[in-house]
Amino acid sequence: MSKLAIEAPKMVTLPVAGSDAEFPVRRVYCIGRNYAAHAIEMGHDPDREAPFFFQKNPDNLDGSGDFPYPPKTADVHHEIEMAVMLKSGGVNIPVADALNHVYGYALSLDMTRRDLQGEQKKAGRPWEIGKAFERSAPVGVIHPASEIGHPDSGRIELKVNGDVKQEGDLNQMIWKVPEMISYLSDYFEMAAGDVILSGTPSGVGPVNKGDVMELLVEGLDQMTVNVV
Ligand code: MN
Repeated sequence: MSKLAIEAPKMVTLPVAGSDAEFPVRRVYCIGRNYAAHAIEMGHDPDREAPFFFQKNPDNLDGSGDFPYPPKTADVHHEIEMAVMLKSGGVNIPVADALNHVYGYALSLDMTRRDLQGEQKKAGRPWEIGKAFERSAPVGVIHPASEIGHPDSGRIELKVNGDVKQEGDLNQMIWKVPEMISYLSDYFEMAAGDVILSGTPSGVGPVNKGDVMELLVEGLDQMTVNVV
């Protein structure tokens, strides 16, 4: 490779449970409204229309356990999601083949500046300033599918300061993990290092500095994230 004109940006890597190897991140895709009860609470029809996606940036993923309250907002919401990490990819991946591309799974949060997202929605503009800000995706350690399998049911729950705010079951996803991978691969070339945030159950709401979020996906993991 020829000499770089500036210092190379740091590659984003995430820890893997039970290993000193790290998972390198390429892209981050997030699905919208993938649990019917959440679609309803956001004012939408929960019928199975085509899924839609937006993206966060690789360096928005943050495994520190802290979520710094971001600037330019007064209404930051939690969205607990299961993250799916790919070890390979391609285009036009059949649903039946999709899970063969999954490396593992982790807990994550799609933190959202809801006030800014709402303004962008109203204006018909992209969502980046509501979604893709610094450290907007706290993420836990990755559990390889070779160890835990492919979770498709089990309680997903988020508590704030000990109170249950979000609860659901992975089996309530409108678009299942293999369907999401297959759908995305019709539009994008998927590849090793890609991360998919698989949507949030109902009960999204605001957090404030000093709040403690406890995340749980049964059979996967639990973790704590502090709003600082
Ligand atoms: Mn989300």
